[in-house]
Amino acid sequence: MEDIKKKVIEMLNDDKAENALFEVSNIVVYTRNKDLFLNGVDKIREVAKTIKKRIEVRMSPQTLTDSKEAEKIIKNILAKENISAEEFWFDNERSLVYIEMVSPESLLEKPNLIKEIKEKTNWSIQLNRYPIVKSDLVRAIREMLYTNFSFRKRFLDEIGERIYYSNVTIDPKKYWVRVTGLGGFRQVGRSAILLQTSFSRILLDVGIDVGSKENPYPVLDAPEFRIGELTAIVISHSHLDHCGFLPVLFRYGYRGPVFTTAPTRDVFTLLHLDYLNLSQKNKGIDQLFSVDDIKEMLKHTITLNYREVTDISPDVRITFYDAGHILGSGMVHANLGNGLYNILYTGDFKFSNTRTLNKPQNVFDRVEAVITESTYGGDFDYQPKREESEKFLYEIIKKTVEEGGKVLIPVLAVGRAQELILMFDEWKRNNLMPDLPIYLDGMLRAVSAIYTVYPEFLKKEVREQIIHYDNNPFLSPSLKSVASKEERDKLLSEGPSIILATSGMLEGGPALYYLANMCEDKRNSIVLVSYQGENTLGRQLSYGAKEIDIEVNGIVKRMHVNAKVYLIEGFSGHSDRGQLAKFILTMKPKPKIVLVVHGEERKSREFAEFLRKSKINAIVPPILEGVRLR
Ligand SMILES: [Zn+2]
Repeated sequence: MEDIKKKVIEMLNDDKAENALFEVSNIVVYTRNKDLFLNGVDKIREVAKTIKKRIEVRMSPQTLTDSKEAEKIIKNILAKENISAEEFWFDNERSLVYIEMVSPESLLEKPNLIKEIKEKTNWSIQLNRYPIVKSDLVRAIREMLYTNFSFRKRFLDEIGERIYYSNVTIDPKKYWVRVTGLGGFRQVGRSAILLQTSFSRILLDVGIDVGSKENPYPVLDAPEFRIGELTAIVISHSHLDHCGFLPVLFRYGYRGPVFTTAPTRDVFTLLHLDYLNLSQKNKGIDQLFSVDDIKEMLKHTITLNYREVTDISPDVRITFYDAGHILGSGMVHANLGNGLYNILYTGDFKFSNTRTLNKPQNVFDRVEAVITESTYGGDFDYQPKREESEKFLYEIIKKTVEEGGKVLIPVLAVGRAQELILMFDEWKRNNLMPDLPIYLDGMLRAVSAIYTVYPEFLKKEVREQIIHYDNNPFLSPSLKSVASKEERDKLLSEGPSIILATSGMLEGGPALYYLANMCEDKRNSIVLVSYQGENTLGRQLSYGAKEIDIEVNGIVKRMHVNAKVYLIEGFSGHSDRGQLAKFILTMKPKPKIVLVVHGEERKSREFAEFLRKSKINAIVPPILEGVRLR
């Protein structure tokens, strides 16, 4: 195997280069050659093109200006143009300074300033967006990210070495691909898919089933799953049914990479910390992992942008595509064996435009197999139009307020909540909304803070609103955060309001507390907008239950439901049956096989049956049954 690192240095013709290291599939050259560092763009681009890898040239760590001094210099340079930066984090190992700014655009628009900083300090710059919505938790996560620099440098290089220096010969006659569901097949919850090839073992998602007491976790004692043999984990999005078990794998000793998008990483860390918090308070739940496991997980997480093609093992190349489900959600395209076989794993997706996200694409260079969700895959799972649902919710709010009641909307921390916040904001702007407070409880503020850090992952209109932050919908003055019991009791004793609280299926979280305090008053309204899992309290309510058992602070109370309960499915972040069908039937190229997963068994079967009638080979494999694809 030729030494690609040496070759890059040779091709750059750089006699002052100290070494070259991988950062996963990119190559970074550390040098004392300042001319190459400052003026080498064209040359570097040329070499990158020839060897088909991204290449970056940074100054050797020995040449860097002391970080305190560098901070002063950078601040002075920025001050000349009235550009402000919030924080500086210096990674001495990788010669990188992370600058956190409310508006990174202000510096990006001035390449001459960036060059001046490089020239005067020798540091390379990475710009990150500073969260303008204040949240201690988001702060804490970001501090965790800016640590372990020397570990990261080594870790990223090791992954690269494993990808490029392991002697793997892909023989088309022998190369095989196989998929096994370890959870989330013929059910919604605990999604976990083991993708095996001749040379790799990849885990796609590793979630928990929040609604299940008997089988909440994926089946990791399957004979084909050995944690020590895992090559990589790929996480499609931050809902707990797709990533809730991730820190547990680190508790069990997994030390390989986790690939996901940056917003997904931030949100899942937040949700894992929240889960930990709850389980510590609530002695009843077994504590699956510790804060150290979460830190270990973060150390090993590598983030990718949409459409950024990356090798993750000698024979697996992945790309995330916008899935339109929640902030940072991705469909995973896996190119296997140098294109011998291609799989698209949809994760959860919405094949339509929403207020916050773009409609996903369904045209790819190559796809042989699709693994698709089917949450709303049943023959009758058509959701009402978005506009109608918004109108309906508007009428509910208006009527409830007139009667002096409150509106409780249980939501997942990420997804619907932010869609609703944007909708309320627009109503306010158009003077449609009655003037009343909107309370956000349980992680919602922190998640909204993360939305403001990653406008690039949102659709254009929202991105612009956030970047020009004088009309940032997440900073609207009518949004009020609630975090303590006192605050909850206070708002409950006051007049009409809208309350957005977790969890979405009323399986825990502050939403339960509100429900217990609101359900007996007939003036109030409970509006369910999320998917309600089997065996959840939310599902019971959606079926019209008039008597419910609610557990608050460890005590179960039987209560009457006098409040009005509404189920509005048109806000869903999932495709309905029509959208699922359209996604698959108009997909280019036409897939050879579709694995229908992530749906209640009847619904998955109905969707597969429909696809077969449309001349597409579709199957609904059970958990633990290996499907050989090649
Ligand atoms: Zn989801």
